[in-house]
Amino acid sequence: PSDTGRVLSIQSHTVQGYVGNKSAVFPLQLLGYDVDPINSVQFSNHTGYPTFKGQVLNGQQLCDLIEGLEANDLLFYTHVLTGYIGSVSFLDTILEVINKLRAVNPKLTYVCDPVMGDEGKLYVPEELVHVYREKVVPLASMLTPNQFEAEKLTGLRINSEEDGREACAILHAAGPSKVVITSITIGGILLLIGSHQKEKGLKPEQFKILIHKIPAYFTGTGDLMTALLLGWSNKYPDNLDKAAELAVSTLQALLRRTLDDYKRAGYDPTSSSLEIRLIQSQEEIRNPNVELKAEKY
Ligand code: ADP
Ligand code: PLP
Ligand code: ZN
Repeated sequence: PSDTGRVLSIQSHTVQGYVGNKSAVFPLQLLGYDVDPINSVQFSNHTGYPTFKGQVLNGQQLCDLIEGLEANDLLFYTHVLTGYIGSVSFLDTILEVINKLRAVNPKLTYVCDPVMGDEGKLYVPEELVHVYREKVVPLASMLTPNQFEAEKLTGLRINSEEDGREACAILHAAGPSKVVITSITIGGILLLIGSHQKEKGLKPEQFKILIHKIPAYFTGTGDLMTALLLGWSNKYPDNLDKAAELAVSTLQALLRRTLDDYKRAGYDPTSSSLEIRLIQSQEEIRNPNVELKAEKY
């Protein structure tokens, strides 16, 4: 691993607002990465609004783009990043892409946010869960599920820190050496649990970060979080705890700014999902001020 890299980021694009590639590409570029986005959908805005319009890329169209790169010898990547994927056929094609890129660069790091749902609700077709479990997780180098997604992938119910740590261990056994459960809600606080299994068979090194829950609902935070975890964990490959501290610190500063801006404009921040103030937070992306520390277990 080095300080930088070339990232193929296959995620959603929205014309207005920040989710998917719109919330991942800019921060990775700020951290010094070349980022090549493939837009898995192009929508007017994110799906939390009353309505949206746009186009969805299918598996064949993704293949076409990869074939174009291949024909020009342009398939060398250090990282692949994937987020929300809406269909089994598209996910199957992504698996083929990972295998192809690993053949070109055996050291390819695959960072997977297994976006499936939140707060007990699935927002992808049920068949996707099985594909993630059986085929995608085994290929991933780093996995960044939320609480609900970690439950779906492991079959565990996660009600405590111990459950979260056990879920990470189960996920390591299935493939990824780095797992970050980005948020577990326990009694009104948010808990991030990180886990790094440095060698197969070894006990993973685990830590937690306690996060004060802001009483508002944001979109694009998960996508931003995973991008930052990729960016920082590549710079600190043996310190997942440090990478997570940096990523969480950026998130908290950005969410505070977002909340302040909406309040100043006279909005009720609890009434709808808020667009994050990504561009305005570039200083906090480049140089996060670490206030929340990781506690090792
Ligand atoms: P997802 O959107 O994938 O469900 P999370 O909800 O886990 O992702 O959010 C990712 C990160 O964003 C969390 O680790 C946390 O740092 C931050 N975050 C999201 N929502 C809040 C909130 N309401 N208060 C504080 N931090 C939040
Ligand atoms: N992609 C699209 C098109 C979306 O509409 C959303 C949320 O509405 C997301 C991705 C994911 O957002 P988050 O990072 O909050 O999970
Ligand atoms: Zn998510």
